[in-house]
Amino acid sequence: MDDAETTNHTASAGHLDDPATSARYDELAAGLAKVQARITEAAELAQRNPAGITLLPVTKYHPVTDVALLHQLGVTAVGESRINDAASKAAAVPEIAIHFIGQVQSKKTAAIARTCQAVHSVDSLRLVQRLEHGRALAVEAGLQPAERPLQVYLQYSYDNDPARGGTTPERIRALASTLMEECAHLTFAGIMMMPPPTVNPKTAFAKGAELLGELSATYGRTLGYSAGMSQDLEVAIGQGATIVRVGTAILGSPTLR
Ligand SMILES: *Cc1c(COP(=O)(O)O)cnc(C)c1O
Repeated sequence: MDDAETTNHTASAGHLDDPATSARYDELAAGLAKVQARITEAAELAQRNPAGITLLPVTKYHPVTDVALLHQLGVTAVGESRINDAASKAAAVPEIAIHFIGQVQSKKTAAIARTCQAVHSVDSLRLVQRLEHGRALAVEAGLQPAERPLQVYLQYSYDNDPARGGTTPERIRALASTLMEECAHLTFAGIMMMPPPTVNPKTAFAKGAELLGELSATYGRTLGYSAGMSQDLEVAIGQGATIVRVGTAILGSPTLR
């Protein structure tokens, strides 16, 4: 947990004696508690330790004030899917780590490498190479510490639908090898996957877990499994998710606010 003084952030969060800010704080606290309870229950059902599952609140399309309030509530990392939003939120709440979870465009890799501590959606050699280069430059410029490489999750696609991103097990094996052997500024953190809407999510999450198990054995290290969102986090936890990316169930729908 980050023990920085929460009073430092009231400027970007708004003041808790302001009724609207205070109401939003309570709403976010309730959302976090509700989702944490779901995680605990799903972990117990799967006979897993709930402490092995990290909740990553997804703040995309929500204002920076929400990020500041989440930080006050003890959240240390959030997920974002647009790099411009990620950069402005990182600047406003520098204590919070940003995980990039959206599809990565080549031209945004430098900004991602400068701004984020993790990327969940890497699916090509070109992106790996550009992120490595971008992170090296960020370290050189003193914007990121050399001892903290960018964490890279390789996105597995169950059905190869380009709309959701991700790639095949064969390509993921090759990318993992590149990450392990050639990328001093990146860490191979694990696998991310989103099940196609037409497939039984349990089947898809299980397939990703199988690939993850194989890679963990190959490299003799524990890898993370970024799987599960508001609707399917229980299913993902049942299949071994170690990090769930949850937006709506904590923050509500941005369009309704
Ligand atoms: C938006 C998003 C999430 C969160 O989705 P919710 O259904 O709001 O929980 C998780 N992962 C990715 C990649 C996303 O784009």
